[in-house]
Amino acid sequence: MDRREIVFDADLLSHAPDFVNIVAHEIYHFVWRRLGNRERKDWSLLLGGEKRPTHAGLSSQLRYEAWRESGGERHWSAYLCEAFCDSAAALTSPNSRISPHRRRWFGRLMKKRKLPV
Ligand SMILES: [Zn+2]
Repeated sequence: MDRREIVFDADLLSHAPDFVNIVAHEIYHFVWRRLGNRERKDWSLLLGGEKRPTHAGLSSQLRYEAWRESGGERHWSAYLCEAFCDSAAALTSPNSRISPHRRRWFGRLMKKRKLPV
């Protein structure tokens, strides 16, 4: 992450839809890192208000389950990051599983041009 590089296994090229989703997810890790505390806090409040979240991907689902078991801040932070990346990546897919309020949140962010890579 510090070197701002992503390395993909060439085998992913034979799974085009998954590959597009994985690339988007990984790029959004860079965005999350540069997003700023204000937007990350806003995302945390949004997700903190979800009683039964619709997970946009397996990565965030697993982090959510880890947080539910531990209740720890570190797990919550990891969940926020993975949920951000999964949700953003889901926006690239026509069959995305992303809740309307998350979609609106990203729409607002994009309108403000707050997606620093
Ligand atoms: Zn991730």
